[in-house]
Amino acid sequence: MAVIEMKGIKRIYKLESKKEKKRAATGEGPVVVQALRGVDFSAEAGEFVFVMGPSGSGKSTLMNVIGCLDKPSEGSYVLDGINVSAANGNTFALIRNKKIGFVFQSFNLLARTTALENVELPLFYNRKDRRNRRERALEVLREVGLEDRLHHMPSQLSGGQQQRVAIARAMVNDPAFILADEPTGALDSEMSLEIMTLLQELNNRGKTIIMVTHEPELACYAKRVVTLRDGQLVSDRWITERRSAAEALARWKQDHSLLSGKEEAA
Ligand code: ADP
Ligand code: MG
Repeated sequence: MAVIEMKGIKRIYKLESKKEKKRAATGEGPVVVQALRGVDFSAEAGEFVFVMGPSGSGKSTLMNVIGCLDKPSEGSYVLDGINVSAANGNTFALIRNKKIGFVFQSFNLLARTTALENVELPLFYNRKDRRNRRERALEVLREVGLEDRLHHMPSQLSGGQQQRVAIARAMVNDPAFILADEPTGALDSEMSLEIMTLLQELNNRGKTIIMVTHEPELACYAKRVVTLRDGQLVSDRWITERRSAAEALARWKQDHSLLSGKEEAA
């Protein structure tokens, strides 16, 4: 079943500031920016898709449309069977909460709030009673391997652990898909591989994941890579020799301990 079905998606930004209008009037600048120029994009349940492309190619604009944070100027979008193109503001917010699990580069956790409470938060909209909320939050925190960090504040966690909390929060409402915007962008290589390992595990258990990344070396961990250029999808390929992030992480740790061992010996 398709969880995302987009046809002919266009997003045009009108330039409205005085300066921009003046530049447009004198022919020095554009009147509008066509950030997406007719994108057809579908994803089935169980896919792990990377959205890649150079800066300015329209990745963020497409993510905002997929995430129901922004409406396209033209085109149709059906999300998990719901015709999003016809939805209004309130329905939009409801779809976001129920159907999409967001993961951001900067984690976006509440600072003076424990891991457990951060993960419980999205459940408040769903009128679940307190005990059910707690049980569900514990369940997903266990799934991301943080059962021993439940009462830590974000500042007491490493970047990788904070991103795990954010992923648990994204999973807690059992969304149709996870939408991750540069989830490894703020992490070093080891933590990056840890997060890729977790995302691959979640995907192996059936979770659909759409992820934007700038880092071409991560493409080998996806199942499918779509590339944007100048607001158009210019390539859509399946990764035939998909690699395991868990194996890469194990290798990284081994090399690293060999290196530090050598340093000590020297
Ligand atoms: P990417 O995320 O791939 O770097 P974006 O989706 O942010 O690309 O931007 C695509 C194009 O749309 C760029 O040319 C950018 O300058 C333009 N753009 C993005 N947001 C706006 C906006 N709010 N107003 C005007 N132009 C915008
Ligand atoms: Mg961007």
